[in-house]
Amino acid sequence: MASTGKHDLVIIGAGPGGYVAAIRAAQLGLSVGCIEEAQALGGTCLRIGCIPSKALLESSERFSEARETFSKHGILVGEPKVDLPTMLRRKDQVVTTLTRGVEALFKKNKITRYVGHAKLSGPGTVAVEGSNGPLSLQARSILVATGSKPAVLPGIALQGDLIGTSTEALSYPEVPKHLVIIGAGYIGLELGSVWRRLGARVTVLEFLDRILFGLDSEIAAEARKLFEKQGLELRLGCRVKSAQVKEGQCLVEVEGQETLTCDRVLVAVGRVPNTENLGLDTVGIELHAKGFIPVNQHFATKAEGVYAIGDVIGGAMLAHKAEEEGIACVEHLATGHGHVNYDAIAAVVYTHPEIAAVGKTEDQLKEAGVDYRKGSFPFRANARARTRGQLDGLVKVLADARTDRLLGVHILGPHAGDLINEAATAISFAASSEDLARTCHVHPTLGEALREAALAVAGRALNI
Ligand code: NAD
Repeated sequence: MASTGKHDLVIIGAGPGGYVAAIRAAQLGLSVGCIEEAQALGGTCLRIGCIPSKALLESSERFSEARETFSKHGILVGEPKVDLPTMLRRKDQVVTTLTRGVEALFKKNKITRYVGHAKLSGPGTVAVEGSNGPLSLQARSILVATGSKPAVLPGIALQGDLIGTSTEALSYPEVPKHLVIIGAGYIGLELGSVWRRLGARVTVLEFLDRILFGLDSEIAAEARKLFEKQGLELRLGCRVKSAQVKEGQCLVEVEGQETLTCDRVLVAVGRVPNTENLGLDTVGIELHAKGFIPVNQHFATKAEGVYAIGDVIGGAMLAHKAEEEGIACVEHLATGHGHVNYDAIAAVVYTHPEIAAVGKTEDQLKEAGVDYRKGSFPFRANARARTRGQLDGLVKVLADARTDRLLGVHILGPHAGDLINEAATAISFAASSEDLARTCHVHPTLGEALREAALAVAGRALNI
């Protein structure tokens, strides 16, 4: 007979959504079990997503600085070379340190970890198929935090790292000669930047007539020019029909165009929720048309005691959005309170320069007919950006024309991903653009560009 375990809360999935929810629930005094099928904790983000890609973005950016900007600073190091095995090993070490860190947090918070595939098996029960035999867990509440996986297009036959997804593109054994990427979204542009900097020819094929759909179109258009200067070939309005390997070469067929030949293909056309083989039918959960699990504002599914958060429920597929939902869900379970302010959830693309955004885009405000005022400030007029030699990009602040309440902040520029947190704080406190503009910002810092853009909303930027 299967062994059994009993918890207040059982969480399926130990990605950023699941593991953070587990810690918060344990802090609130719940007995928590967390089931994860991968050997390492941390989910896609830590193992095969955000963290390894950021490690490679850091390394490749250092290489590109050594090659292109060191000499301008008066530093002469000769021709730098890439030692790819060391770069990949370093990335793996970063991942191992962080996933072990989550293990330590589980121990510290007395969270019981189960290794295996979990399936709902009726109200209040979860079956775990693990290497140590089957287990049956009982729980008052069950939280599904199973995340997502790369989407694949019909007509594309994935083939190892020749035609692969982001997972394979984090570990190519050598720098591709010609990498064709399908999709100019987050993954295509981040991983495209990595391999371009390391020396690959990179062609990005995008179905739409713009890159980074969903981000502010003015910022995306500026970013596009910079990426093209870096040598990324961005081909817009291209619908990829098929990709296959023939005699060791990858062939990518684009509607109405010549077939491309290359040595590697990265498919980066979005992600789909992980819902198969989860036993959702045993508790009567039906999926949305797009495959997501429907939930209410407290992340409750229609099945009593079953909750879901993160990529599996749709919305922005971002680690920190899943974390916020996990925290809000278990806080509501334990205390009756807990919510997420989606307007204050920022998004970052870790290219060079970085792109970061929080709140509404200008396109959304126009479409909704909102009367807004806009202030922009270019990094070339910021003293710290000049000392860094990083002059590309701008900050754009959007505020309600009548109340001055901040509606959106968009940054293309150095450390945009760090700068955006100030804007997220301001939005979550319902600040006005004047609040940002009247906050004394340290000189000389990149953050002064945000203040100047806020000043520009009232037509009183100082340094331009
Ligand atoms: P994405 O949705 O960002 O971009 C996919 C792109 O592929 C779209 O622009 C789409 O128009 C294009 N596309 C779709 N079908 C096509 C076709 N047949 N031919 C050509 N182009 C096609 O998806 P992604 O880059 O795969 O990223 C997946 C998810 O992962 C995103 O939701 C993103 O939020 C998340 N992510 C976030 C980060 C970050 O926060 N920095 C990094 C990586 C991934």
